[in-house]
Amino acid sequence: MGYIEEEMLLPFPAMSAEERETLQGVVGSLGELLSRHEADFKAWDRAGTMPPEYIEELKGFGLFGLVIPEAHGGLGFGSAAYSRTLQEVAKFDASTAVTIGAHSSIGMRGLLLFGSEAQKTRFLPRLATGELIAAFCLTEPGSGSDAASIRTTATRDGDDWILDGNKLWITNGGIAEFFTVFAKTENADTRGNMTAFIVTKDMPGVSVGPHEDKMGLRASSTTTVHFEQVRVPDTYRLGDVGKGFKVAMKILNSGRTGLGGGAVGAMKHLIGLSTKQANERSQFGKRIREFGLIKQKIGHMVVDCYASEATVHMVAALADQGYEDYAVEAAISKVFASESLWHCADEALQTAGGNGYMTEYPYERIVRDARINRIFEGTNEILRLFIALTAMDDVGSHLKELSKSLQGVFEDPIKGFGVLSEYALRRASLATGIRKSVFTKVETRLKTHAAVFEDATKDLAIAVDRVLRKHGRNIIGKQLASKRLADAMIDMFVLACTLSRVNSSLVASGEQKAAQEIHILDVLSDQVRRRVRQNFDLVDRNEDESLKALAEHAFDLERYPWDTI
Ligand SMILES: Cc1cc2nc3c(=O)[nH]c(=O)nc-3n(C[C@H](O)[C@H](O)[C@H](O)COP(=O)(O)OP(=O)(O)OC[C@H]3O[C@@H](n4cnc5c(N)ncnc54)[C@H](O)[C@@H]3O)c2cc1C
Repeated sequence: MGYIEEEMLLPFPAMSAEERETLQGVVGSLGELLSRHEADFKAWDRAGTMPPEYIEELKGFGLFGLVIPEAHGGLGFGSAAYSRTLQEVAKFDASTAVTIGAHSSIGMRGLLLFGSEAQKTRFLPRLATGELIAAFCLTEPGSGSDAASIRTTATRDGDDWILDGNKLWITNGGIAEFFTVFAKTENADTRGNMTAFIVTKDMPGVSVGPHEDKMGLRASSTTTVHFEQVRVPDTYRLGDVGKGFKVAMKILNSGRTGLGGGAVGAMKHLIGLSTKQANERSQFGKRIREFGLIKQKIGHMVVDCYASEATVHMVAALADQGYEDYAVEAAISKVFASESLWHCADEALQTAGGNGYMTEYPYERIVRDARINRIFEGTNEILRLFIALTAMDDVGSHLKELSKSLQGVFEDPIKGFGVLSEYALRRASLATGIRKSVFTKVETRLKTHAAVFEDATKDLAIAVDRVLRKHGRNIIGKQLASKRLADAMIDMFVLACTLSRVNSSLVASGEQKAAQEIHILDVLSDQVRRRVRQNFDLVDRNEDESLKALAEHAFDLERYPWDTI
């Protein structure tokens, strides 16, 4: 809408001294625990499994109780502390991080968010100790991104429900005793009419398939989960009947900072590996750290890691402060952190040269482990569409108001004119820049960076307006246009979070101490300015139709038709 909500962004959220102290303790001893297993992580990746004794060690440490309230036996961490803990785990091993993350971020999050007191009292203490490990069962063979199309059914039978169906690629499937399961209820034909249930492994009719052999996260458990005539009491229902889709989306949204934290941890680890490698390796009589192209890679890795960390932390803090409406920001943090990690892993492997490709070194495993983050917990394509369409919904309803009021102009001219003039004024002011929304609390040293965000905010409002006027309701089908807006929004929110973080560092420690962080902002704000400009320029002039025609042609042939012989 062209406005900056500064109070949401500044100052950069800080943890309380007490929370920081607890977290430092946890992170320190976690490092001790996990560093003992460094050689094992490599072996378990090869073997494609992690031994039960190791999972017992994780339980003993309390890693399954991170987000469970202290009253129920957990550590009672908020989103920021949870995300920071997963960061630490991911520095060592992505399979361990996903095992803990699937339990806390999604497996039992429905119980935390929607469970009754009785359900919580019954299950949370055992989930906190890890006696019960949790899994989230949404995906099915015919239903991935289109979660509303699931086929598993729950049919009412007296006080119970009878569940029937098959779930696919369920993280922790082989070790979980507690499942959050989504099934179609009532009018099972109606899309999206689903309900969430707690199902436990000991219920007759629950079974799991074999361990999936995967590209990455190989030591973590991924299996099918089957429900055959499983009798589930109505007291095990999570949320209202028919509201399961909302439950699923809220769980995924609320858990996103776990995945983001994991991505940041892996990036920190990669920066450690790559800088060491660049210091040790010499070619052409010099250490490779001296080459500009190597410095460029490491510089970008640092910028991406810092910006991801700022964004993930900001989203976690918004959740901890009780903001309800942070779904777009959470989606942005997931997309940006997962893609930053992917670039970072690729560049780290490149910096290591041929060694990077050898299984003796850790890079190839990290690349394999990192790839999934762009696919699960909502693919980045679906999340980009979600980001753009959710944001445009606000503007769209403003436009709807406008057209509604125009219809009524003749019956109620004053009211109609009021709406019209307000909207026209906003458009006119955006176009002329008179009422540009600005930051008021940014340090003078950072004003030019703040101006990049301010200009982009104004340009985004104009671009969204143009796109909506051009495509109207058809915007749903205009995915390339939506993606461009989403990319601009992702860049802008990441810049805002980074600006906020650097601003707080500058205030706290002065320009000299914050010099490197200011360099980070120099790089990021320039990148964002260029990318956002390009995305807005492409709104009107682009090669979309040619690209789509080429794809259609290739789909029809199912091959590449050209050759030089
Ligand atoms: C290792 C692993 C662990 C997993 N863990 C779990 C788990 O614990 N619980 C669970 O429920 N699921 C889990 N999943 C499933 C995961 O969430 C899905 O794979 C993911 O949601 C994507 O669904 P899909 O694989 O069916 O891809 P599809 O939905 O078939 O998508 C294929 C491609 O098409 C794109 N696409 C789809 N629809 C659109 C659209 N409308 N517009 C544009 N592009 C589109 C996608 O972005 C993707 O690139 C896991 C998967 C893996 C691989």
